[in-house]
Amino acid sequence: MERILILGAGFGGLELATRLSEEVPDAVEVTLIDQSESFVFGFSKLDVMFGREKPAAVHMYYRDIVKPSVEFRHETVRSIDPANKRVTTDGGTYDADVLVIALGADIAPELTPGVVEDGNEFYTVAGAERVRDVVASFDSGDAIISVLGPFYKCPAAPYEAAMMLHDQLVRRGVRDETTIKVLTPMPMPVPISKEASAGIRAGLESRGIEFWPETVVTGIDPATKLATLRDGRTINYDLFLAIPVHRAPAVVAESGMTVDGWIPVDHTTFATSFPDVYAVGDVTSAPVPRVGVIAEGEAGTVADVLVHRLQGGESPAPYPGIATCYIEFGGAEVAKFDVNFLGGPSPFGVFKEPSLELAAAKKEFGATRRRRWFG
Ligand SMILES: Cc1cc2nc3c(=O)[nH]c(=O)nc-3n(C[C@H](O)[C@H](O)[C@H](O)COP(=O)(O)OP(=O)(O)OC[C@H]3O[C@@H](n4cnc5c(N)ncnc54)[C@H](O)[C@@H]3O)c2cc1C
Repeated sequence: MERILILGAGFGGLELATRLSEEVPDAVEVTLIDQSESFVFGFSKLDVMFGREKPAAVHMYYRDIVKPSVEFRHETVRSIDPANKRVTTDGGTYDADVLVIALGADIAPELTPGVVEDGNEFYTVAGAERVRDVVASFDSGDAIISVLGPFYKCPAAPYEAAMMLHDQLVRRGVRDETTIKVLTPMPMPVPISKEASAGIRAGLESRGIEFWPETVVTGIDPATKLATLRDGRTINYDLFLAIPVHRAPAVVAESGMTVDGWIPVDHTTFATSFPDVYAVGDVTSAPVPRVGVIAEGEAGTVADVLVHRLQGGESPAPYPGIATCYIEFGGAEVAKFDVNFLGGPSPFGVFKEPSLELAAAKKEFGATRRRRWFG
């Protein structure tokens, strides 16, 4: 029996545990550890923020996981020793034959002055729930949605938030009393694809949402309601919605596995520089965006590698870097973006205009994962 220890039960950890349970249940003992008691899709936070879903409805509880050879532990990882594949949690110490780090990325609102006090982050369920009430009472003035760091989860999320905000303000009859701006350090919404970026920009323009590329907010002042930009200018805001700076969880940074803040991996196998230690998802510096479907695909590759290690046979194919991302356009419409990050000389993607059919496909995407991971 191989003792496989998976840290983090998000998109990456859940997919890996599911694949191992499905394919090699008699050859593995999988321990899946997470500090939370439930999983929530990233996109459900937008649903909570705009009142489409009640917070209680978006949680999928780990206690419902019943999978051969998988044991879930609701514990917080306190230290990781990658050389010895030994992990300490608040519940005990684990020694593994194979260790997989899937701990995601944390947000750090405290790294930008004023953001803890007035930044209204919506990247956590608690944040989204708080912001729901703030947004619901925003009737006039200037809203800013601002990306504060170079890497963040879900490149499309700030634009989705902007279009969903527009939609809500129109429904409440106060859109004419408001402005919406999206500020980002990036040159375009989705830098890897001009086509998808153009689709998103067209969506913003048709809704009167301003797009401010290559714009970095260095701090906000809750007293004066001014945001300071890196070039020294200030702009007024009445509602500030921050996408805070992201960083690897502290326990990962302290493990000595990171370089420039993230875990480097061989992006064909997701092996780290430590033997039998792998890392997938937002916590790595693989040349792909921080998106759930990517973390899931990477976990699939690690599953292929581990199954091959146990059963032999043909060598596993390298990670293809292919993913489908759905993008909310407000109302009931959703667009789609099929991307291939690693299959050509440079990343490329195909953008599909928003439609009700794609909204149904996104729903099915979520339902499939819920069934597969939680039974
Ligand atoms: C608003 C928003 C919208 C999004 N929309 C989409 C979308 O439409 N499609 C999409 O594909 N992606 C979307 N994403 C991105 C997606 O949620 C992430 O990229 C994805 O969850 C990353 O998967 P992961 O497995 O790397 O990490 P995560 O899913 O974040 O999982 C990491 C897990 O590690 C656990 N953990 C962390 N530290 C510890 C510790 N010390 N001890 C124990 N457990 C710990 C956490 O509790 C968490 O469960 C969105 C994100 C946001 C915020």
